[in-house]
Amino acid sequence: MRILVTGGAGFIGSHLCERLLSENQEVICLDNFFTGRKSNVAHLLDDKHFELVRHDLTEPILLEVDQIYNLACPASPVHYQFNPVKTVKTSVMGAINMLGLAKRVGARILQASTSEVYGDPLIHPQTEDYFGNVNPIGLRSCYDEGKRVAETLFMDYHRQNNVDTRIVRIFNTYGPRMLENDGRVVSNFIVQALRGEDLTVYGSGEQTRSFCYVDDLVEGIIRLMNVKAEDIHLPVNLGNPGEFTMNELAQEVAKAVGTNIKIRNMPLPQDDPKQRQPNIARARELLDWSPTISLAEGLQKTVAYFADGLENTSTERKSNAETKKALKGQSELSAKN
Ligand code: NAD
Ligand code: UDP
Repeated sequence: MRILVTGGAGFIGSHLCERLLSENQEVICLDNFFTGRKSNVAHLLDDKHFELVRHDLTEPILLEVDQIYNLACPASPVHYQFNPVKTVKTSVMGAINMLGLAKRVGARILQASTSEVYGDPLIHPQTEDYFGNVNPIGLRSCYDEGKRVAETLFMDYHRQNNVDTRIVRIFNTYGPRMLENDGRVVSNFIVQALRGEDLTVYGSGEQTRSFCYVDDLVEGIIRLMNVKAEDIHLPVNLGNPGEFTMNELAQEVAKAVGTNIKIRNMPLPQDDPKQRQPNIARARELLDWSPTISLAEGLQKTVAYFADGLENTSTERKSNAETKKALKGQSELSAKN
């Protein structure tokens, strides 16, 4: 099959491309390199079944493919809030462009949605039939509401045009190839611990998240794309039900790095959800899927990745100001669309 992965040069997308190639599929990786990097897929470039296309998903594109994994969208709050209008455009216009493509060529299409559609949830753990508690006008809304509209479009293209759609609601996922300056909690804590810096815990640190290792997630996504079942067009939660407070996560990172850590409490960002835990009964039933990698094991693999990367780049590490400037440049380019 020829498979399109949008956002394929990003963290999850690059693991997905790698896995699909290992199964002898032909992969087209499409990315505008906002938060993705060529280096994430550099090792795949020599594979004759792999193609890398620089393209912004807010613009239509004509391709002939059998399946589409629509992952393009910045996922870290720091990145998706950098140019919020562009984030909405990527989710909404990106979904429309990809659904139009799927409709034209008869491809099956999967949308990477998110646990953020549940907002600050009042139901715990979260089941797929919960409508969520999302602020439509806050700083996280560009991401949360963008993904909610993307889900709406997927359901309507299915009902109206009979497009073969899938929706995965991904809970916090971590692993190698997250950006060092990503801003998400796992990469922040690991990088800080490796550098001997204080770990920045936002708020009291008693808010919870459930962390899934990237290989487990990719396995679930591929199963969802390929399973045949009656009501498979409905959203499916994928995540690891193990739930940790940020204070507990800091201690787990300390163990994985093998160092003593100090905590620095910082202000809690606006609308930060208090709790998050997936109910994965639907994924178990439809996909026979559940995560196999514990937080301790996954953190060890991720620490190994960052330890190696930080050693290699320590002499040329960008200052925060330089990183922000680089991001601004990329974002201004993207904003023109
Ligand atoms: P990421 O930022 O590493 O990857 C996103 C990729 O999309 C990057 O390569 C980026 O350059 C690309 N991209 C962004 N805007 C684009 C545009 N307009 N056109 C083309 N490419 C564009 O993030 P990730 O963690 O790999 O997330 C991948 C997907 O999974 C996202 O859709 C995200 O919303 C979803 N998701 C991730 C998590 C998680 O915990 N990692 C949780 C829930 C949902
Ligand atoms: N967080 C933190 N320190 C950091 C980064 C994040 O305590 O350096 C907290 C953040 O406030 C949130 C949780 O960790 O409560 C998860 O944040 P992340 O950005 O990784 O994911 P999301 O909030 O989108 O689930």
